[in-house]
Amino acid sequence: MYQSLGELCRKAEEEKKSFWEVVQADDCRERQIPEKTSFAQMKAMYLAMKEADASYDPKLYSRSGLTGRDGGKMQRYVDREETICGPFLGRVMEKALKMGESNACMKRIVAAPTAGACGVVPAVLLAMQETAGYSDEEMTQALYVAAGIGGVIASRAFISGAQGGCQAEVGSASSMAAGAAAFLRGADASAIAHGAAMAMKNLLGLVCDPVAGLVEVPCVKRNVAGAVVALAAADMALAGIRSKIPPDEVIDAMRSVGQDMPVCVRETGEGGLAATPSGERMKDYLTQG
Ligand code: SF4
Repeated sequence: MYQSLGELCRKAEEEKKSFWEVVQADDCRERQIPEKTSFAQMKAMYLAMKEADASYDPKLYSRSGLTGRDGGKMQRYVDREETICGPFLGRVMEKALKMGESNACMKRIVAAPTAGACGVVPAVLLAMQETAGYSDEEMTQALYVAAGIGGVIASRAFISGAQGGCQAEVGSASSMAAGAAAFLRGADASAIAHGAAMAMKNLLGLVCDPVAGLVEVPCVKRNVAGAVVALAAADMALAGIRSKIPPDEVIDAMRSVGQDMPVCVRETGEGGLAATPSGERMKDYLTQG
């Protein structure tokens, strides 16, 4: 697994390969599998995301009752064509909510990179495919791009809220989605890495503060923020804008901010929104009965 986006970009340039091909070659080397097998497995992952989105149940509430039905609400709102952000971003938000709720309702999702942040990458990718008509093969390539970025973040920093706060979960997912979205629109390796960096920069410092320790509040709605930030970062990268801080240094900053974060905002459910009077009330209600 690559430990540096810079190294990954250099490899792509030296070997005149696309970002996704470098990630795929690395996967084949590491797991000793042929390209065909690796691609089939990545495609299956993408199709599982599609399936999870299609099988969203708009009537379902989570066991705690804290989450459910918002994906359906957003869908109806987007259908009425009243959104401020327009139909495309509306669909992205709808899909992010649906996937986050499906996770809270124990339905099958793809952790990308984690279950808590599972809505970000599919919301961006599925909405882009629906809008622009990319093939499943192109989407699989985009998923390699996302996986390559996630792999670097995991090996250079962390991808769990317990280790680095929500910047490590939703922030990493947003980075992955930004790179994948930029790739789909023709960005080269360097622009992909900068898109990923700009998404991460904008979510730096985000704490992990799940109410009652459940991956529901604020997690589901944070997936929306991660997806929207990803698209803004991808657009900046496609416009030729670059992160003033190099991508690998942005990831290092995320690691260092995460290490400095107090334990109460690292998935313990003891700080931030979890510690508000309403958060405490919800927790008491759920634990007492
Ligand atoms: S708040 Fe914590 S548990 Fe929820 S998505 Fe973010 S990192 Fe995961």
